[in-house]
Amino acid sequence: METLIERLVDSERTRFSANEYRGLPDAPPFTFVEGNIAALVSAPHAVTHMRDGRIKASEDFTGPLALELARLTGAHALVATRFDSCDPNFDPFETSAYKQALVSYVQSHDIRLVLDIHGMITASPAIIALGTGDGANVAARPEVAGLSASIIESKLAPVAEKYGKEIAIDGYYAARDANTVCATVARSCGIAALQVELSTLLRYPGGIVGHKPSGERNPFPAAAIAPELSARANPDPAAVALTVAALADIVKL
Ligand SMILES: [Zn+2]
Repeated sequence: METLIERLVDSERTRFSANEYRGLPDAPPFTFVEGNIAALVSAPHAVTHMRDGRIKASEDFTGPLALELARLTGAHALVATRFDSCDPNFDPFETSAYKQALVSYVQSHDIRLVLDIHGMITASPAIIALGTGDGANVAARPEVAGLSASIIESKLAPVAEKYGKEIAIDGYYAARDANTVCATVARSCGIAALQVELSTLLRYPGGIVGHKPSGERNPFPAAAIAPELSARANPDPAAVALTVAALADIVKL
């Protein structure tokens, strides 16, 4: 029987990292997985994307993490599965097939919480950043903000301390922009939406022999490359497992 880490690695290797992190050529741009609880996990940057004409790195393992959370909790999932020259967390609603599909899906499936998963580089001062749009994106269920922050603190504070990193709540990454997935779905559907940015330290479980993030490396700022490659050379699967446990508890709120 496959372990959590083996499932994450298999999924990333066979689907999301294919074709230089653009996903399988015959995959649709995004894929829903039907669940049976009132929550949906989204991973809009699971493959390489494009913002304002500029190629942006895939946030690797966010797709497998979303699918794993759906498997563990019964949540619905929506994951980007092929590069399509768009950025679901940036493009206006009118031109974003991902957000249009998400809003329709939420409205037809009685979903009351969306967790939108992203990845940030190892050089970031935070190891995890929870964003509620300063409360605006959880106005429908304000208690979700404090509860999710408590879950993250209780499960991940030791990992943050180990790496000398912060746990950020509504800091730089807060999903304040109106075109983010979270702000859009909260506003359009009247539900709670949480954005979570995970450092590579919390989402890269290793297990890919000789794996190099070649599809990602070029877009990184020069100073970020060394810590990024170091994190990937010294993966912390226990930290990834704790992250999955914390996010699963949030999905079940
Ligand atoms: Zn992202």
